[in-house]
Amino acid sequence: MDGAQVGGRADPAIVVRGLRKSYGDVEAVRGIDLNVPRGEIFAILGPNGAGKTTTVEILEGHLARSGGEVSVLGFDPGNHERSFRERIGIVLQSASVDPYLSVGETIELFRGYYPDPLPRETVLELVGLSAQRGTLVRRLSGGQQRRLDVAIGLAGDPELLFLDEPTTGFDPSARRGAWEMIRGLRSLGKTVVLTTHYMEEAEYLADRVAILVKGAIVAEGSVEELVRRGAHTTIHFRVEGPSPPGHLAAEPAGDGGAYVITTVEATAALHRLTGWALEEGVELQELTVAAPSLEDVFLSLAGSSGRNGGP
Ligand code: ATP
Repeated sequence: MDGAQVGGRADPAIVVRGLRKSYGDVEAVRGIDLNVPRGEIFAILGPNGAGKTTTVEILEGHLARSGGEVSVLGFDPGNHERSFRERIGIVLQSASVDPYLSVGETIELFRGYYPDPLPRETVLELVGLSAQRGTLVRRLSGGQQRRLDVAIGLAGDPELLFLDEPTTGFDPSARRGAWEMIRGLRSLGKTVVLTTHYMEEAEYLADRVAILVKGAIVAEGSVEELVRRGAHTTIHFRVEGPSPPGHLAAEPAGDGGAYVITTVEATAALHRLTGWALEEGVELQELTVAAPSLEDVFLSLAGSSGRNGGP
């Protein structure tokens, strides 16, 4: 049976094959494959209009797909089974909750929708709102309200939690706190699917990342793998006097003898550069070596072609 749950916890949380979604003429998702093991934090990154929301809404069962196969916790989300909805938690960008209820009452309300909810105190502790249990929702700070959104997503003790841009608008310390909270969910064995525009968030949290551009996955793997595979180290320096010879592949970078070398073989490039400088007896000034980051990979994949990924 298509929608039946296929038992064992060793099954991946999410399996997607050839997923497609069109809105009229707009092909928002063009045949993507995903495999998310249980207990993993999986981040979906992509420029605006890449198809992230569309993909996640199909996984949640909120949107019908145009083609392909989708299994989430062993269910086809398109079948809208109640037992599926009870096993997932969804944290939207802004949940609408009654501002005149207290934090504790709000959690209680949402616990009531599930057959086997987490104890209220556990939810409060997980999101760090124990001290605010009696506070009215309208009196919470923005960061605390976002924690409450997560608390609502956790109330039913979901196996899989969807987090849509969980820290947008946070100050740096609130963001750190939220990251610790999300990491805590992993240690409880929850699977988390995260969409975010913050590269450092994905770097800090995600076991694996998929980069979506124009409805297709252009890169997938751990942050380390993506960085190793796709990006370049940049070596900046300034030198007075002789110009660096051609074999160093140094490009002028502004005035005053500044240069940049972009390379996937940083060790060899540095060796050549410093060898040349010693031979010439010149000093390399302002020498910096910048390791590639997820942001570099993202920009190289999404930067030129990813903007407003329409038809
Ligand atoms: P963002 O980062 O801006 O939220 P996204 O990656 O989530 O973007 P989607 O919202 O999934 O992207 O949109 C993917 C494509 O589908 C875009 O070209 C968008 O304009 C189009 N699209 C999304 N929803 C609809 C809709 N209901 N009707 C028509 N086109 C849509």
